[in-house]
Formats: sequence, C-alpha cells, structure tokens
Amino acid sequence: MDLKKAGFSTRAIHIGKKMDETGATATPIYQTAPFRFRNAAHAASVMGGQEKGYVYSRGLNPTTKVLEEKIANLEGCEAALSQASGMAAISAAVFSTVRAGDHVIVDEVIYGSTYDLFAGLTRFGVDVSFIDTSDTGNVETALRPGTKLVFFETPANPTNKLIDIKAVSDIAHDRGAVVFVDNTYMTPYFQQPLLYGADVVVHSATKYLNGHGDTLGGIVAGSSEFISLARRTSRDIGGAMSPFNAWLIIRGLKTLSIRMDRHNENAMAVAKFLQGHDRVDRVIYPGLKEHPQYDLAQKQMCGSGGMIAFLLKEAKDVHPFLDALKICTLAVSLGDAETLIQHPASMTHAVVPKENRIKCGIVDQLVRLSIGLENAGDIISDIEQALDRI
Ligand SMILES: *Cc1c(COP(=O)(O)O)cnc(C)c1O
Repeated sequence: MDLKKAGFSTRAIHIGKKMDETGATATPIYQTAPFRFRNAAHAASVMGGQEKGYVYSRGLNPTTKVLEEKIANLEGCEAALSQASGMAAISAAVFSTVRAGDHVIVDEVIYGSTYDLFAGLTRFGVDVSFIDTSDTGNVETALRPGTKLVFFETPANPTNKLIDIKAVSDIAHDRGAVVFVDNTYMTPYFQQPLLYGADVVVHSATKYLNGHGDTLGGIVAGSSEFISLARRTSRDIGGAMSPFNAWLIIRGLKTLSIRMDRHNENAMAVAKFLQGHDRVDRVIYPGLKEHPQYDLAQKQMCGSGGMIAFLLKEAKDVHPFLDALKICTLAVSLGDAETLIQHPASMTHAVVPKENRIKCGIVDQLVRLSIGLENAGDIISDIEQALDRI
C-alpha cells in the first residue's frame, strides 16, 4: 500500500515514522545538540553540502524531521520546517521573502502578534498595507509593482471573516506576488490552502495540531526550494523547535482528525444555542447558514472548526459574563481540549490601535470562544448560566 495516498488519519499517524534498531513504535526523542561525524572526510562532505546528514539541531534533528514530513504530506506539499512557535514560523517565512524596498499586503484582521510583526517591518524599510482582503477589489487596488507578498488568515482571528484563497492567489500571482496563508484555525484536516493556489502555509502548532495546550510550536510548509531558504533563515535567526516539543505535537497529530470532528460538532451545537439567546446580538461561525460567506466556506473548507465569534448586545456585559463562567476557561490560545474564552478587544487584540480594531469588526462586544472537547451540553449549560447572570 502506498502510504502517501492513504486516508488523512492514517497519514497523520504513520507518515515520517522511521523504525530504528530497537523497534520502538513511538518516535524516539533525539535530545541532542550536535551529531558525531564518522570521520573528517564525512564531516567535510556533510558540512560542504555534498552529502546529506545531521550536523546540529538548530538546523535539522531526526525527531523534528518526522513532524516536518507529516505536515508536508498533510498540507499536500513538498516540505515543511518546524519552528519554536507560530510567530517564529511566520518570521522565518517572512524574512525569507521580503527585503527593504518591498511592499507587503496583510489582511487587517489578523492574530495580534502577527499584526505587530508586520507593523514593525516598516523599521526595516518594508512598506505594509493592512486591508480587507475578503474584498478582492481591495487586493487589486493595493497591489503595485513592488508588492512581494500577500498574507492572511482564513477564517481570520478573531472575527471569523473568510478570505477566498483561490481568488486572492490568482490576482496576486498575476501581479508577481506570493501568497502566504495562516492555516492555524482549520488545520489541513479541514482546509488545504496550497490546493487553492497559496504558495506557503504557516501554522501555530501550539493550537490544534498539538491540541493539548502543553507546548508552543510553529510550522512553515511549501515547496522544497522555499523551505530550504526558510531553514537557512531559521538557522541564522535561531528559531528551531525542540525535539521534545516536536514529540508532543507528533503525539497530538495522531488524534487530529477525531479531535477536529468533535471540536466541529460541539461548536455547531454551541453556535446554534448562542443564536437563540436574547443576550446575544450575533453569532459568526462558518458552519451557520447565516455566516455572510457561507458559500465560500462550503467551497474551500470541508469542516467549520471549533472557533466561534459572537457579539453580546452590550459591551458592558462582557466582563461580568466572562467572570461568571465555570467550565469555559478565561485564557488566550485556542485549539485545546479545554474550552477557552477571551475578549479580543481587551486581550489578544489590545495591540491593534482602537480605531483600526473597531473598523474591522473587533468591537468591544465581541467574544471569542475556542470550543473544546468536553460534552457539548456542559459547555452550553455553563454559557447559559453565565448569560443569565448578566
Ligand atoms: C497563536 C497564533 C499565532 C502565533 O502562534 P504562537 O505559537 O503563539 O507563536 C499565529 N497565528 C494564529 C492564527 C494564531 O492563533
């Protein structure tokens, strides 16, 4: 059987695994910094690039390599690079691509630190436009001869706005720019941006890929050529993932498909409950027919994920509501077994200047929910008793 063509769950479990002489079925943790060469000629050949081999774990390590091969396969591309965090992955990808004088287009609804990273690029002579890329007309207008990169998340954190990967990629490619998609929310189980024309996918593996809220991690996935370049950038910046963190994420991936199905099922039940509650103004979840881009969700995603955005009628009720919850945990991050809840305006997106934040829908009434793997009825009861108390 050709493992590369097997089903998603089979590949998530088996791809990249190597059997060593002990027969260990779990991936061994190669907790080592350097690797010993057989002799001086071997060292010269590996370090000179004539022969492949392990040198130093900041560049390549057998445990992190297993994770990289898995993600490359699951995203449907040639290669992947693991990094210490999602932000290290985004930095490695971006610093491998842009230089002083370039122009970059970034969606205005984006993870807080990603916003901060791109906003800071102006210090290095890179011009950055934050726009709404869900309207392709805006992308056409913003593209110019020096535009090197278009970067977005879909669904976007925290508003669940969707961006048409194929439409934006076609326009960007026509004008000589590359497209990077942050696929953290969907994972390759529900969405494969490279199939729709994106050039590079980045992930915060801290979230669903690991799935247990117990490690940081990041991934860049794309062509072998781009990943070699990103690996070199990473080697110089020093963002390598530790072998132990890779091992945790490899373990997490074994249950990715069943976790994502459960996150999806639970989120659908909670979204429907919220829709019917009179303290709730609006629920934004791609699985609901009322989502303004429901058709696009059906086209480029094969599930709706576990992230719900909803607006309370009154901004003043948000903090009392959060404080009344018992099972839903007030914390940043997402994609864990635990249901996590947070208030973007005063937490994850506080770095975004207020007028930009309001303009793109990150209003004070907005609450972000990362639906966990608990029993859906218990999550709903918890939210219900907290809404009843405001
Ligand atoms: C968390 C997150 C990041 C950053 O990842 P870290 O692992 O925290 O560095 C980037 N993008 C999205 C969409 C995220 O949710």
